[in-house]
Order: sequence, then C-alpha cells, then structure tokens
Amino acid sequence: MLVTRFAPSPTGYLHVGGLRTALYCYLWAKKNDGKFLLRIEDTDLKRNSQEAVIAIKEAFKWTKLSHDEKIIYQSKRSDIYKKYIQQLLNEKKAYYCYMSDEEKNELHERQKNNKERTKYDGRYREFNGTPPANIKPVVRIKAPLEGQISFIDGVKGEVKFDVKNVLDDFVIARDDGTPLYNFVVAVDDSLMGVTEVIRGDDHLSNTPKQIVIYNALKLNIPKFYHVPMILNQNGKKLSKRDGAMSVMDYKKDGILPEALLNFLVRLGWSHGDQEIFSMNEMLEFFNPNDINKSASAYNIEKLYWINAQYIKTLHVSRLIEVLKEYGLDLSGFEKSEALIDLLRDRAKNINELKDIANSIINEPTNYDQKAVEKFLNVDTLEILRAFNNELKTKKNIILADDFKNVVNGFLKNHNLKLKQLAQPIRIAIVGSAISPSIFDVLSIVGLKNIIKRVDNLCKRGV
Ligand code: GLU
Repeated sequence: MLVTRFAPSPTGYLHVGGLRTALYCYLWAKKNDGKFLLRIEDTDLKRNSQEAVIAIKEAFKWTKLSHDEKIIYQSKRSDIYKKYIQQLLNEKKAYYCYMSDEEKNELHERQKNNKERTKYDGRYREFNGTPPANIKPVVRIKAPLEGQISFIDGVKGEVKFDVKNVLDDFVIARDDGTPLYNFVVAVDDSLMGVTEVIRGDDHLSNTPKQIVIYNALKLNIPKFYHVPMILNQNGKKLSKRDGAMSVMDYKKDGILPEALLNFLVRLGWSHGDQEIFSMNEMLEFFNPNDINKSASAYNIEKLYWINAQYIKTLHVSRLIEVLKEYGLDLSGFEKSEALIDLLRDRAKNINELKDIANSIINEPTNYDQKAVEKFLNVDTLEILRAFNNELKTKKNIILADDFKNVVNGFLKNHNLKLKQLAQPIRIAIVGSAISPSIFDVLSIVGLKNIIKRVDNLCKRGV
C-alpha cells in the first residue's frame, strides 16, 4: 500500500509551503487508495509550541485534508528511538564518542575557520579503552568512508552525493541520550510504513544521512520526491512580507479553502494550462512525478483571482455554509439562495460577500454621506414618499419583475426617469448608492422591509 506522510515541526505557524507539501502527500495517497499520515516532529522541546500543533490541526480541519490513523508525536516515542540506538551500538554500527570540551571546541573552531567542511575525524570510531569518567558521550553512526550515495528522486531524477564531501560519522544521539533529527525521521518513516516521502527540497541534504540510517538498521528506503521551494516575485525565499502567512490567516482574509488548495496545487505542478481544479480533478490528475523541477513564484493576485472564480461557481449551499463560519447565518433568511446568486459575481473574498449580504439583509444603520448629498433633496424625498405610499397599497409583489412593473408604472404616472427613483431607493435600502440590480435587491428585501426602510429614510430627512 502506498503510504505518505506530512511531518511538520511545530515550531512556528503552518505556512503555505507546508500546506502545499501536505496537499501533495494527501493527493498522492488518496489517488492510490493509500494512507496519508500525520507526524508531529516535536523532539526539539525548546522550540516547540502547543499553539503550533493546534494551528496544524486547525488548518487540516479547515482544508479538509483528513489524515488517516492517529497523529504520531515524536516526543512520545523516545523508548522506540532508544531501542534502535542501542541496536546500532550493539551491532557496532554506532559508537560512543567521548570528545572532551576542548576537542569539541577545537573541531568547531576548525569548522568555523575553514570554508571547506571540516569533518569529524572518526577518532572514537574504534575506541575500546576505558571511557573517560567525566564525559557524557554522544552516539555517532559509522557512516561509509567513501563512495557515493545515490537515489532516484521522483522530482529531480538521479541524485548523487559523494560521501567524502557530505558525510562524516554524524551524531545520532546527544549526550543526554535524546536522538537527533535524521535518525528519528528515518526510524519513524520506516515504522510507519511510509513508502513515499514528499517534502521540500530544503531536506535534500538530509537524505544521504537518512539513507545511512536505513541501511544500518536494514530498513526499507522509501521513494523520495523533493519539491522545489516557493519563491517570491523577486526570486527570494518567501517571507511573511510576501504574504507567506499562517494558513489560518488566509481564512481571515476571506479565502476559501478550495481556492487555497487549488492555488497551491498549481504552485509547482501543472496539467496542461488548466487553472481551476476541483478536488476530484486534483485527485485524478496529480502525480508527484510531474512536479516542476524549478522553484515556483508566489503570486497573491492569482490566489485572489482563483478565490473569485470559486465564489462565482461554488454551490450555493456551500457558500451559505461558509458564510455561517464567518458569522453570517442565512438559515432563517428565505431568499438566501437568490441573495448569494445576486452577489457572488461582485465579491473577491468571503468577507466582501458577507459585507454586501449584510448590507442587503439588515436595515442600514447609517447612510453614505456622499450619496446622501448627491441624490437626496426635498424633491427626491417627496418622490420616495409617493413611491412608498404606492407600495403600501400593493400585495403579492415578490419577483424582481413584479417590482420592475411597479416601478415603471410609478415612473410613468409621475413622469419621472428611473435614476430619479433608483438612487434614492438604493440609499433607503442599503445605505449607499451602490448595489446590484435594484429590482433584484427589492425582490430579496421584500415588500414589508422596503416600506419600512423607505419610511426610515423619509423620517430622517436630508
Ligand atoms: N519536520 C520537517 C519540517 O518541518 C520535515 C521533515 C520531513 O518531511 O522529512 O521541515
């Protein structure tokens, strides 16, 4: 069975790059009827935060990228790691390194001063003397001394590392016994049955170390896909300033999760020139072997454009559900579907949709001063009053066309032009001179509420 995993370190907020990796892992697993697992890499107790774990869970819930099985927390697995470290020590594939502080400092100094990587020289590799009493040793793995480590990366093709350049007997456990990053990743990926590792290519240089560990423990090596980074418009690493916000900030900005995932799937992968992908299409077409080899550029305008496309086309019931999450409950509102259909083309994000919807559903609490100055005067108020009096005699005026007939009849009888009534009535209904088609708005607001809102404005005067 194909098994992928997303393995975030909960040290900061979950950003879009992380979510893209999670999406790719999710799609590839689900497409293959496999499993998508979530592992929280929380061994760095100093840098971890509980809020970051909560943010990861929240982002998964919001985007509906549901993982299989229980979340694995590395912080709860120290016994497992200890066991494997002990196994390597017993098999003499790893050893205690008793470097004194002076020796360590000397090595660090050389590493600092030397542009070339100064490797640990293996001085305790074959040590079998009496361990120095006052030194707590680290554990180092016996890495190959020469040759190459190579693997076929699903994105990058064959990747080769010259052992001499990149490896030494690296530390797998600190002097307090806690295991190090590359060790736990390899152990966990293997124990979790992960068959395909899809991750950012900032981890490419960790891969040879992890392969050394797989080999030492005789574990299966998964297939790797190293995904190029997301860069900003200037080709630099994406930062907060470019909008590389925490995933949940996109929600605050009124972005739909569908749109964000669509934006992210295209950021580093393409299928012809198609831009809009439903989840089903992503599942049908996505293949990590087609991930772009070069870095992709983050373009927030494109996200806004995709978001607007989703707002235009999503099923009304889904938009109603989303608006509820944003605090606008339309369940008691009879004309909710007509309202959404009327407004969806005008909104770039859900906050805008909510604001315009609110302006139609609720009586205005204040009126746009500029519109009042421009369109309201004694004459237009008189027209509004007359119109309202006519409305008060009507019954069964429901559809936009019904209102159109009433308005046209009124204009004809009073020898008026539409603009003399339309703007004042907009101000009465929504508080400003801007609204979608006035007849549609009237139909949605309904006769009773229109009469009330026009009365309110007339009472207020100019
Ligand atoms: N914990 C690592 C990170 O957040 C990912 C490790 C991996 O995917 O192998 O960058």
